[in-house]
Amino acid sequence: MVDAIDETAADTPQDSLASRVLTYRRPLVVAAVIALLSMMAGLEIWQVILGYGVFSAALLVWPASRAATRAKSIGSSTSARRRELQIIDALDFPTVLFDEDTVVIRQNSAAATLVGAYPDRAALSARIRSPVILELVGRVIETGQPESVEHVERVPSERWHEVRVAPVDGRSEAGGRVFVLTFRDMTEARRMDRMRTDFVANASHELRTPLASLMGFIETMQGPARNDEAARTRFFGIMLDQAQRMARLIDDLLSLSRLELRAHVAPQGEVDLCHTVSHVIDTLRPMADELGVQIELSAPATPVLISGDEDELIQVFSNLIENACKYGQSGRKVDIAISETAAHGAEITIRDYGPGIAKEHVPRLTERFYRVDVETSRSKKGTGLGLAIVKHILTRHRARLVIRSKLGEGSTFSVKFSGSNPGAPSSDAELYQ
Ligand code: ADP
Repeated sequence: MVDAIDETAADTPQDSLASRVLTYRRPLVVAAVIALLSMMAGLEIWQVILGYGVFSAALLVWPASRAATRAKSIGSSTSARRRELQIIDALDFPTVLFDEDTVVIRQNSAAATLVGAYPDRAALSARIRSPVILELVGRVIETGQPESVEHVERVPSERWHEVRVAPVDGRSEAGGRVFVLTFRDMTEARRMDRMRTDFVANASHELRTPLASLMGFIETMQGPARNDEAARTRFFGIMLDQAQRMARLIDDLLSLSRLELRAHVAPQGEVDLCHTVSHVIDTLRPMADELGVQIELSAPATPVLISGDEDELIQVFSNLIENACKYGQSGRKVDIAISETAAHGAEITIRDYGPGIAKEHVPRLTERFYRVDVETSRSKKGTGLGLAIVKHILTRHRARLVIRSKLGEGSTFSVKFSGSNPGAPSSDAELYQ
């Protein structure tokens, strides 16, 4: 692509002395006549020669110095232009310069990556085919006013861009007006907006369901079941269940928001994983017994120490072991193993022998409110937030969750703490296999 903002728009200076004499021949002749007349009028010859010499020199040399200054200023404006073009190349957001005939003058590498490289003197529409963007370009060429539009691409993945077109102060080689088109990637911001909206919608829906049920029972007890003692007793039991469900949901939502606030603060303290996991098993044993599930722990005799927040890790292992007992109940057994890994790392695996999880669900399990089967989750007092909480806590601990599952054989949830590299990227907190 060539530099095409016009860099030589100024006239070429007339440099040679002969051409300058030619240009100023009339004033020179007039001055010579005046000099002759002055001599005849009695002026000394040296005075006449001096006066004529000063006049001619001023006439011939002054334009030359003016031209030199002009050439210098053209030179500096040329290098300024070049600098402007280099700035466009250095920008990390896609930028395309084009003229009023929509012929592309220059694009930076970010633009080449986004829309493809333009051949020399190609039209903007050779790579950008979106009617929304091309209409915007047409409008800005017509009005000369900067404007922007939002452009959404669905394939291969959903991407949002704010596309802006604005006139540039300068002319193209052909003397036409120049415009700049920029793309600002809004994908992450839009995704966050959507997640936030979905989250609020999901949370409201989850809260509204038990609330509607509570209101229904209250109305029934005020009306038709007013004097039915047996029905009232049964309804109170259901209402308590619904109220507890709302309380669990609110607790989980608060946990999530607290974790989000602390997401970038490294956890303080030291935790012995053997002690913590044993403590969680002890608290969950009554529930496991009720479900008819036997929990087995295999752990080293010596403490397995990691740096972390004990309360948060208790929450991680409670959620995972409780899920294994609830959803893997049919396997009647949950095996938990703690082991030390290389460079002071540690791994805890929680294995159940239940129905397992179909492959397509596995990558989405840590999404908020994602459940394989909503009714099963509700009947097991689930909120759909347990694994999202696990994910947040593990991210803060620079640990990974690995989920392996096979239909009919059960599931294994492994938590991996890497001791040697506590600064490992948190985005790698989950790994599904
Ligand atoms: P919930 O509160 O519904 O248990 P979680 O976030 O803890 O929410 O789990 C999300 C979903 O993952 C559950 O609804 C369930 O469908 C599935 N799940 C979690 N653990 C297991 C497991 N051990 N076996 C089978 N399915 C599981």
